[in-house]
Amino acid sequence: MTPPAEGTVIRCPHCQKANRVRPTPEGIPRCANCHRPLPWVVTADQRGFDAEIAASVPVLVDFWASWCGPCRMISPLLERLAARYAGKMKLVKVNIEENPDLATRYQAMSIPLLVLIEHGREVARHVGAAPEAALIGWIEPKLTAAEAEQRSS
Ligand SMILES: [Zn+2]
Repeated sequence: MTPPAEGTVIRCPHCQKANRVRPTPEGIPRCANCHRPLPWVVTADQRGFDAEIAASVPVLVDFWASWCGPCRMISPLLERLAARYAGKMKLVKVNIEENPDLATRYQAMSIPLLVLIEHGREVARHVGAAPEAALIGWIEPKLTAAEAEQRSS
């Protein structure tokens, strides 16, 4: 049996408390101090990937590499999205140089590649950099639909 993932330390943007967040298929991570939803941003490798994408909210996987300029450009935009939609999505970053098996599995030929996963299945993908407003326009309707679906189930 593989040991449980040690998780990720996420600092609360509201009260600055450092929270250790482990992958969980249920619920959303909240700050232990102020109880607000945390911006759920984690880095995954091949070993932990399946546990990280099992989540109660849509998971946006960011496939990137250090040599990719556009990837570095959208990385802070994606983190802002995770903060904007705290409690509604999870951002999982995957370095394709370190995780070639995941790059193959998701056919990450062209990066940055964003793959949106719901209930473990890919539901949408976006290739290439884009301005923040375009990324919001792409993801917001999907998050709203997922939220409505969860409320009605
Ligand atoms: Zn807090």
